[in-house]
Amino acid sequence: MNTIRDNVQKILRELPPGVQLVAVGKGRSAAEIREAVAAGAGIIGENYLQEALAVQPEIGHKAKWHFIGHLQKNKVKQAVGICDVIETVDSMELAQEIDKRCRLINKVMPVLIEINSGREPNKSGVMPEQALELAQQIACLHNIKINGLMTMGPVVENPADIRPYFQLTQRLFEQIKAGCIPGVDMGCLSMGMSGSYRIAIEEGANLVRIGRGIFDR
Ligand SMILES: *Cc1c(COP(=O)(O)O)cnc(C)c1O
Repeated sequence: MNTIRDNVQKILRELPPGVQLVAVGKGRSAAEIREAVAAGAGIIGENYLQEALAVQPEIGHKAKWHFIGHLQKNKVKQAVGICDVIETVDSMELAQEIDKRCRLINKVMPVLIEINSGREPNKSGVMPEQALELAQQIACLHNIKINGLMTMGPVVENPADIRPYFQLTQRLFEQIKAGCIPGVDMGCLSMGMSGSYRIAIEEGANLVRIGRGIFDR
């Protein structure tokens, strides 16, 4: 049986320079997350605000907190108070709410734009062809700062089948970067999970989100 510590350290050793680990804590206890942080996981990803609120007081600022779930407008006020990065911005409406709530607490929130790289109607994320326009619109807001892109990609049977969706997102990343939109700093490309992070890194990811590979023992 591997411990959480073993898993984190093995993954950290494997990641190439410049690639950061997001340890995905959904459904995990504060004790489990604490073990991951103690082993060197510097960023925790949370999908649900309630879970983040429950575990964060026990971990605090030893780690950065990335919100990686679908963020409802009525949860934005709480989210901006506890998150260091919101990875899942996919509409101007959501961006405006984040901007408004951040203005009230004098904060500038780094965000990633989530791309619906599989163009799946029922999934979150902006459609790829609308990403550049959304980035240009969000760039006009003062209390939110675009730091890059994030994608999940569709569920595929064969892990290798995810590659085209990562490639699509990487091309968009380069396209938006080349647009040199004032205020937009394209530093982060968040792609890949436990079963796909090696492929994602080959396709340019520098932020990988791993849950089961750390916490399943
Ligand atoms: C759960 C989740 C992950 C991690 O998935 P694993 O397969 O457990 O590694 C990554 N990103 C998001 C958005 C998730 O919801």
